[in-house]
Amino acid sequence: MTATMSLDLPGEDDPRRQELRSWFSENPEPSPTQLRDRGLVVPHWPKPWGLDAEPELQLIIEDEMKRAGAKKPINPIGTGHCGPVLVVHGTEEQKQRYLPPMLTGEEMWCQLFSEADAGSDLANLRTRAVRDGDEYIINGQKIWTSLAEVAKFGILIARTDPNVSKHTGISYFIIDMETPGIEVRPIVNMSGGGLFNEVFFDEVHIPVASLVGEEHNGWAMAKQTLANERVSLSQGGLQWGHGPTARDLVEAVRERGGVKGPLLQRLMDAYIVGEILRYHRLALVSAQLNKKPGPDASLRKALADPHGKVVFNLALDIEGASGMLSDGPSEDWALWNSGFLFSPALTVGGGTSEVLRNIIGERLLGLPHDIDVELGKTWAEAQKRD
Ligand SMILES: Cc1cc2nc3c(=O)[nH]c(=O)nc-3n(C[C@H](O)[C@H](O)[C@H](O)COP(=O)(O)OP(=O)(O)OC[C@H]3O[C@@H](n4cnc5c(N)ncnc54)[C@H](O)[C@@H]3O)c2cc1C
Repeated sequence: MTATMSLDLPGEDDPRRQELRSWFSENPEPSPTQLRDRGLVVPHWPKPWGLDAEPELQLIIEDEMKRAGAKKPINPIGTGHCGPVLVVHGTEEQKQRYLPPMLTGEEMWCQLFSEADAGSDLANLRTRAVRDGDEYIINGQKIWTSLAEVAKFGILIARTDPNVSKHTGISYFIIDMETPGIEVRPIVNMSGGGLFNEVFFDEVHIPVASLVGEEHNGWAMAKQTLANERVSLSQGGLQWGHGPTARDLVEAVRERGGVKGPLLQRLMDAYIVGEILRYHRLALVSAQLNKKPGPDASLRKALADPHGKVVFNLALDIEGASGMLSDGPSEDWALWNSGFLFSPALTVGGGTSEVLRNIIGERLLGLPHDIDVELGKTWAEAQKRD
């Protein structure tokens, strides 16, 4: 633990730390199942999935896991976005079926929300789900679906009633990605990787038991999923909570003997903003499930995404021409290079910078709603009119 962390968190003799340390010494390389059963994968969730952990305990757990070298199973959309919604709104049967393998990362999840004309204005979505006996039949197309190529399940929002206002006729489904009629086509991004996909639904039959909550009432859950997403994307790292931090760049520069002049000034600016965001995160960490995630997560994302862009750009400027090579100057360089190539996406996915500012204006500051959204117009329609 660093000296700075000890200012933030209870010290070595804290009984919660001691208990965790003895568990980790008995289970030095815990499997995903052991971590799940101990409540350490999602400690902020209620029991039996998590520990109902308050913010301080969550941070202690994070700290002790790092110390023990233990890594949580990776299932960002499952545990970060839709899992908390299932905990609150899923039936007991849905929880028992889907949550255990979600928490161990055995079954990956994706989020089938965005469409070509429904991104920021998500309620404009056109994918249809029509009830037919004990099934729904899905037709439509989603886009930018991260992890669809590996996901076993997806959270899908689709229109079940086209004859009511656009926010009211939407339902929230769990969909098995191996169901016949689903086609996943990768979209290649500029780093050469296929981070997201187009997903097509052609007469896809799913059981009625796939519905989460009430029919036509999915919008509130979709909003909750997006709010969870904003909290989840706001962890410590520069790349939507993952990857390196401004402190890591300072360390890398220190190891190389430092930088001078304008680069030093830029590095210190990045460090200062990184520290402010770190403290803000400590205040936010409780928001994910126990309390409803609030607009604070939008504020943090609005600050953290441009910060990510600044730091990745700075890393390349510090490195000079060789920084443009993916295998660049050192072993861990790939991290900075791929982060740089991903960084334009930071201020788009999970709510664009502009949309986050609207949320902050309306929900944190109580300013009037965006008039065009109130009138049910899409942003594109508003642009045309102007
Ligand atoms: C890396 C990445 C991963 C993603 N993963 C997923 C995923 O897994 N699942 C999923 O469903 N989606 C995913 N998305 C899609 C993402 O949610 C959308 O890109 C985002 O919501 C913006 O929608 P859009 O791209 O349609 O842009 P648009 O909504 O068309 O916006 C275009 C521009 O208009 C601006 N604008 C729009 N409305 C307003 C307004 N009211 N006020 C001011 N400005 C406005 C926007 O800020 C933007 O600059 C991902 C995106 C990225 C980049």
